[in-house]
Parts: sequence; structure tokens; C-alpha cells
Amino acid sequence: MSTVLELQKGVIYGPIASRRLGRSMGINLMPTKYKLCSFNCVYCHYGLTDKLSHKMGPFIADLPDFDRVIKEVDDILKSKEEFDYLTFSGNGEPTLYPKFTELAAEIARLRDHYRPSVKIALLSNSTGLIHAGVRQAVDRIDMPVFKLDAGSKENFKSINRPAKGIGFEKIVDQLAALGGIVLQTVFLDGTPGNIGDSDIKTYFEKVKHIKPRAVHIYSIDRPVPNPDIKRVQPGKLKEIARYGKEKTGVRVIAFYI
Ligand code: SF4
Repeated sequence: MSTVLELQKGVIYGPIASRRLGRSMGINLMPTKYKLCSFNCVYCHYGLTDKLSHKMGPFIADLPDFDRVIKEVDDILKSKEEFDYLTFSGNGEPTLYPKFTELAAEIARLRDHYRPSVKIALLSNSTGLIHAGVRQAVDRIDMPVFKLDAGSKENFKSINRPAKGIGFEKIVDQLAALGGIVLQTVFLDGTPGNIGDSDIKTYFEKVKHIKPRAVHIYSIDRPVPNPDIKRVQPGKLKEIARYGKEKTGVRVIAFYI
């Protein structure tokens, strides 16, 4: 059985049945021939990152053209396809797209015009927040979801394996400076893992500092290439959610199959 998903083949994909978003129409702003991301998460369902970078300069020619993205979103909004969310996600980190701010504003404008009931979501690994424009764009997103899988620099490095130059503490501070975001966290058992008592304690200290509107926690739901990484069982996820809510006062929701 293959353990990884194929990369998305175009800009628009779906709709995908999502536990949180209902019918979600994906928008992929990254290349289709290889995986380009600022992280190389040990659990990524697209497999290993081919090009690990938060600088898009060398890859511009492989990113979809701004006008093409707008045209494809325009077409899907005018089509008969039914969906609840338009979701920035896809083959890597969407906020690293060079014109993400302008794109998010234009897509929100088209949505308001053609289908005001459709919401816009962003699934981000948080690394684009170094750009002021991306921080501003978050205001235009109905469901801004940001990844935080660790409470310490050590866990961050071993789980997310970021590109050179990406700092853990800086990401936490940038998340704290945003209002009303949702944090999304994958918990892992094994090596590397993040469910030891001290891992969970430091993680929820960061959550308390960030003050998100909610925290969504998961584990892996398919095998990953590294056999040392194990799924966290639903009972443990529920226990983590209870502990987190008690420590932070934030709504912590455990998702599991
Ligand atoms: S940030 Fe997302 S796309 Fe990038 S490696 Fe991690 S899970 Fe995969």
C-alpha cells in the first residue's frame, strides 16, 4: 500500500470531504511536478519535501501565474459545483506564493460577488507570517488555520524539519500577534514524538501565549514512511484535549477516525 498521496495536478482540486470544512475546494499555489515547502514534516501525507525553502525566487517559473489562479477560481465560483469552502492548501505552503496578499484579496472579492455564502479557509504552516502582507491577508480569511506541532525548538526541528533560517520562537510570537486564528497540531507517538508530559506542558504554554480561538488536534491517520512514528490513540488525544482546555481556557477539539 502506498503511504503517500499524489501531488495535486493543478490549481483547483476537489471538492474534498473535510471533517472541519464540509465540502472543501482546494487552491494549490505550489508547483505540480515536485513538492516545494518550507517544512519537511516527518508525517507529511505528500511524502518528503523535494525542495525545502521559504524563498520562492528560484522556483517562480514553476508556480501558477497570478492571472491563471484568478481565472480558475472565477470559473469554479461561476460553475454549478457545490462546495462550502475555498481552501488555500495544496502541494506545500500557500502563503509563500509571492503575491499571496493580492491574491487573497481578489479571491475574497470574487467570492463576495458570486457566492457570498462560501467561506475561505487557509491551511498554513505559519512560515509565511514573516511577510507583513501575509499577516494582513489573514483578516480576509474566514477560517485561518495555522500549524503548531511543538512547544520547544527541539521538537519543532525534529518534527517539522524547517528550511534554514526559520525560527521557532519567531513563529510563536507572530502567531500570538494575530487575533482569532485556529491552531492545528499533529501529535505523534514514537521517535520523533510530542506526547511526553514535558512536551505537552510546554506546547500548551505556547498555546496560552498565542490565545487562538480554538485548537484542533489530530494524529496521523495513515502509515508514514518512518516506522518509528506511531499514531496516537483516540483516548490519548481526548486526554490531551481535556488537559489543554483546563490549562489554557481555549477550546481544544480532538479529531480522530
Ligand atoms: S507543512 Fe504541510 S505540506 Fe509542508 S511538509 Fe508539513 S505537512 Fe507537508
